[in-house]
Amino acid sequence: MSLKTPITVAHGDGIGPEIMEASLHILSEGGAQLEIETIEIGEKVYLRGNPAGIDPSAWESLRRTKVFYKAPITTPQGGGFKSLNVTARKKLGLYANVRPCVSYAPFVDTKHPKMDVIIVRENEEDLYAGIEYQLSPDVTECLKLISRPGCEKIVRFAFEFAKVNNRKKVTCFSKDNIMKMTDGLFHKVFDEIATEYPEIVNEHWIVDIGAAKLADTPEAFDVLVMANLYGDILSDVAAQIAGSVGLAGSANIGTACSMFEAIHGSAPRRAGQNLANPSGLLLGGVMMLVHLGQIDAADRVHNAWLKTLEDGVHTYDIYKEGVSRQKVGTKEFAQAVVARMGQKPETLKPASYSKDAVKRKEWTLKSSPNVKVDLVGVDLYIGSKEHNGKVFGDKLHQITHEGLELMVISNRGVAIWPEFMEETFTTDSHQCRFTDKANPSAAVTQKQILGLMGKVVDAGYDIVKIETLRNFDGKSGYSQVQGQ
Ligand code: NAD
Repeated sequence: MSLKTPITVAHGDGIGPEIMEASLHILSEGGAQLEIETIEIGEKVYLRGNPAGIDPSAWESLRRTKVFYKAPITTPQGGGFKSLNVTARKKLGLYANVRPCVSYAPFVDTKHPKMDVIIVRENEEDLYAGIEYQLSPDVTECLKLISRPGCEKIVRFAFEFAKVNNRKKVTCFSKDNIMKMTDGLFHKVFDEIATEYPEIVNEHWIVDIGAAKLADTPEAFDVLVMANLYGDILSDVAAQIAGSVGLAGSANIGTACSMFEAIHGSAPRRAGQNLANPSGLLLGGVMMLVHLGQIDAADRVHNAWLKTLEDGVHTYDIYKEGVSRQKVGTKEFAQAVVARMGQKPETLKPASYSKDAVKRKEWTLKSSPNVKVDLVGVDLYIGSKEHNGKVFGDKLHQITHEGLELMVISNRGVAIWPEFMEETFTTDSHQCRFTDKANPSAAVTQKQILGLMGKVVDAGYDIVKIETLRNFDGKSGYSQVQGQ
C-alpha cells in the first residue's frame, strides 16, 4: 500500500500553472509524500460552456481525496459565471479560511517589520451566500446571512487555532453598531465562546477603525476573526502591507474536506513570463502538509524557503535594490529553495510545526436556544414610481385587514410615511410595514397576512417581496425603520 496521501491538484489559470509546478517541485524535494490527481477547473471549463467552471468528474476526485491543492483561477467577467472559489468553499463545507500574514524584515521590505497576524475568515456565509435580487428597475438587493452555528464554528475555530499555535489574543472585527442583528450575532457568539478560553485575551473592534489600526499598527493584533467580506478585503490588505500579496498562503478547513491555495488571484498580466512569486501557493502547500500530518516535510520546506528569502533571492514583487541580492524568476526561485533544503534561517524565526497546527478539533455545536416565536406583522415591498411618500402612504393606508394596518413606510431603510421630508431621496421600491393597529407586538396569523396581501393586490399594487415580522422571546426580530 502506498504511504503517499492522495490529493487533488488544479493548476489553474494565468500564473497558476507556473507557480503550481514550482510549488509541487519544492514540496516533493522537501519530502512531501503526495499522490497527485490532477483536475481541470477554471477558465477553460467556463469557456466550454460550463457556468460553474468545474466538471462533475472533478467533484468526484475532490470528494474522494478530500484534500484540494488549488492554483488561482480566472473567473471570466460577466456572462453569469459563478466564482468557483466561492462554490468550492461552500460545497465542500470549508467554513474556516486561515490566512497568515507575516513580515520578513529586514529581508523583505515592509513598513511593519513586527507584523505576524493570522486572519481567520468565515468562508460560507455573509454577503457571499450569493443571494441577490433586483426588486425594481432601480433597486437591487444582496442578502447578508449570518447564522448562529456559522458564527460558533468560525469563532471556536479561531480560539482553538490560537490555543494550539500558542497565540495570546483573538480579536473580533464586526460592524454591529450598524448591522445589529447580523454582525450583532457574530459579536455576541464571539463573546460567548471567548469565556471558554480564559487563557486567551479577547477583544472586539468595530471593523472600520479596526481596519485602520491593522493597516497602521498590525503588530497590535495576533489572531483576527471576522465575517467573510471583511476577511476577504482585510487579508489582502494585511498580506500586501506585510510585503507582497504574493507571499501569503491560505488554508480552507472544513469538517470533511480542506483546500489550500495562495490568497492572490491568477494575475493574468504576469502569466507565462516566469515572473510570478510562487511563495503564496507554496506556503498554502506547507499548511497542507501540516494538515496531513507531514510535519517534517512542512518544517523542511518552510525553513528552506525562509533561508532563500534571507539570502536575498527574490522575485520581482519583493525585489528591492539595497535589500535583495538576486532577482530571479519563478523557476529559479524554486531551484534556490530546493538548493537550501535542510537549512534553517539564521535571523528569521525558524518554522517548527505542531501536528495540530492547522487541524480542526472535533467539537459538537451548542444546541440552538429554544425560543418562543411570534408572528407580529409583515413588510410588503411594493414597487411604485410615486416618489412622494406622503401621497403613496396616505392611499395605501386605506387598506386594512382584520386589525392589520399600515404603520410605517421606509425607502432604503429610512422612514417616508407617515412623515415625509421633501429632502429625502426615494427610489421605486417601498417597504411597507403592517402590524396590529392597537398593539404592534400582538401576534397575528399567516391567514391575516394573506388576506391583507389579497386586498393590496386587488387595489392594483405590485408586491415585489414580503418579509414576515417575528418576535423571538418577545424581542423584535426585525430592524426598526430609521427616523421612525
Ligand atoms: P491578482 O491577485 O490576480 O493580481 C493582482 C496583482 O498582484 C497582479 O497584477 C500582480 O501585480 C500581483 N500579484 C498577484 N500574485 C502575484 C504573485 N504570485 N507574484 C507576483 N505578483 C503577484 O488579482 P486580480 O488581478 O484582481 O485578479 C485576477 C484574476 O484572479 C481574476 O479573474 C480574479 O477573479 C481571480 N482571482 C482568483 C482567486 C483564486 O483563484 N483564489 C483569488 C482572487 C482573484
